[in-house]
Amino acid sequence: MNKETIAQKKLRVLLKKLGAIRGRHTELVTIYVPAGLNLYIISNQVSQEQGTAVNIKSKAVRKNVLTALEKINQHLKLYKRAPENGLAIFSGNISEKEGESDVELWAIEPPEKLNQRLYRCDQTFILDPLTYMLREREVYGLIVLDKSDANIGTLVGKRIEPLKNIESLVPGKTKKGGWSQARYARVREGLLNDHLKKAGEIATSYFREMEDLRGIIIGGPGPIKEMFFNGDFLPTDIKAKVLGVVDTSYTGMPGLEEMIVRGEDILAEASITHERKIMDKFLTELSKDSGLAVYGIKETLHALEAGAVGILLVSDRFEWVDAEFECPSCGKKTGKIVKPDKKDAVMCPGCGSSMELTKENDVLEKLDSLAENVGSKMEIISADSREGEQLFEMGGLAGILRYNI
Ligand SMILES: [Zn+2]
Repeated sequence: MNKETIAQKKLRVLLKKLGAIRGRHTELVTIYVPAGLNLYIISNQVSQEQGTAVNIKSKAVRKNVLTALEKINQHLKLYKRAPENGLAIFSGNISEKEGESDVELWAIEPPEKLNQRLYRCDQTFILDPLTYMLREREVYGLIVLDKSDANIGTLVGKRIEPLKNIESLVPGKTKKGGWSQARYARVREGLLNDHLKKAGEIATSYFREMEDLRGIIIGGPGPIKEMFFNGDFLPTDIKAKVLGVVDTSYTGMPGLEEMIVRGEDILAEASITHERKIMDKFLTELSKDSGLAVYGIKETLHALEAGAVGILLVSDRFEWVDAEFECPSCGKKTGKIVKPDKKDAVMCPGCGSSMELTKENDVLEKLDSLAENVGSKMEIISADSREGEQLFEMGGLAGILRYNI
């Protein structure tokens, strides 16, 4: 399983932001430029749409759509040629107040080749083709079992992949002739125990190999699944990944499919849970005062550059910018992650003059490359949860350290 690339991380953050936007009217414009298509064709189309939009009845909507299209055309001029994987552009009025106008624009070069061409003006942005590009990222382990079967599989994106079917040797409840009731029950219990043990071992051997495993769901008809989960059949690290135990009518492939449908809420919760666990770890270290938690931009960057950060936590609302400056007096150049409103207030470390901003880079990309240089893992934490909001309020940047510094 490949690690999530920075392009995918950026896309994930953007999709979340755009997915939450609802237009007050049909005034959100989505444009997909497929890989290999000349941007000139798209700007022509946008100009045509501008001609059509003039006929929109509502004055406010007309103004917003025209502004969005104009922004798109301006943006398209920034490219000398179409980006390799194509381009997705979103623009529209995002003001939540009727009558007010705040037309924003987002553009992203997708992490994979975009195959479709699309122009749409709607109340939401069209995101499905991009969402699809994140499909392979979320991997879940599946175990469905009863006394006679155990089926192990994974859910990769929306696809179930069966990995292993195990048949048990557990006989039915009715004893066969020649056995005492008690002895029969003991033998049966022993065989059931063997069955669950084997299922646990095989599941563990598969799931331990999966680096990006987000969680595990256990299901099945009857009480065996609970017995399996509550008993000693999974090692602690694997058990810790279990997201839930659900009832199904079947085992086998139909059982796995059923489990996904019934576990939908559990799966939706899972990405949030993943982030929450990381935040919990951070907050625990912080409250223990172990010295293994840092926060704040300056402190975190310092620890990161020292190579001490194991996990770098970045709020999805982190808005600082990675900027490059040049001193007009002595010519000194410097790069720095600065607060957006402090871009004009950077002093030259050489002569003390105020420096000029020469370039702005993507801050997530910068942080990710800093993290990668020292073998740290970067995690983007949504500010939607209580813990995530806490991170945002602590400056939006924090780290869990490998060792004290
Ligand atoms: Zn200077």
